[in-house]
Amino acid sequence: MKYTVLSLFPQLLKPWAEEGLLGRAVKQGLISFALRDLRAYSTDRHRSVDDAPYGGGAGMIIQVDIAAKAIAEAKADTPEPAEVILLTPAGEPFTQQIAAELASKQHLVLLCGRYEGFDARLERYVSREISLGDYVLMGGEVAALALIEATARLLPGVLGDAESHAQDSFSTGLLDYPEYTRPPVFEGASVPEVLLSGHHAQIAAWRQEQALRRTLARRPDLLAHAPLSEAQRRLLAKLKD
Ligand code: SAM
Repeated sequence: MKYTVLSLFPQLLKPWAEEGLLGRAVKQGLISFALRDLRAYSTDRHRSVDDAPYGGGAGMIIQVDIAAKAIAEAKADTPEPAEVILLTPAGEPFTQQIAAELASKQHLVLLCGRYEGFDARLERYVSREISLGDYVLMGGEVAALALIEATARLLPGVLGDAESHAQDSFSTGLLDYPEYTRPPVFEGASVPEVLLSGHHAQIAAWRQEQALRRTLARRPDLLAHAPLSEAQRRLLAKLKD
């Protein structure tokens, strides 16, 4: 998977591309990054990329011609088809399901805005508009990073043997069950005994129940769409009583 990030501050993403699991995936050749500065596509000597909004109002708008040129060059860079994604609060809310869909692509071009965002005519040049949530960030870079992390960890080989996404929150349709590690007792709080029992079937059953309990308590909205087994449905009915 290749990630091209188009931004006014592409260097903000550099440490992410070099450190941790993403850095390791780059070194292993599993993913690659092209961090491109939108200013490089400016046509004037001041390297300006934005202008005042038609109709008046606060802030500056990033110009469509500059962004369209950056997208065209990013697409031409790789023979594989590119999915061009605009990060914007007006986009569809990002979810684990969208992350899974995007993880099957070969090239994601991520367009990060600043100021008041992009000229609305950019819509024709993007295949998808995605929002990180119902709040406004200063720029699209954090949203792009979230999308990169959420998709890259689904790619084969990116998580090591010790890590896995199969049981993660949302992958199963539920929140993840609570996890514990040493010490067995901390300031009076003990690890649930079943986890120390070595009894695999009982541990699995306990975890399944905890995932259901947590989801019911914290995100009951997820239960409407969670692909539950018959046993999980029965357990859920009991928990609701
Ligand atoms: N005027 C815009 C509005 O109200 O929708 C907000 C512009 S915001 C200050 C600047 C840039 O940050 C946007 O162009 C977008 O790329 C990014 N951004 C802000 N909030 C975001 C969110 N919730 N999801 C994705 N991107 C966001």
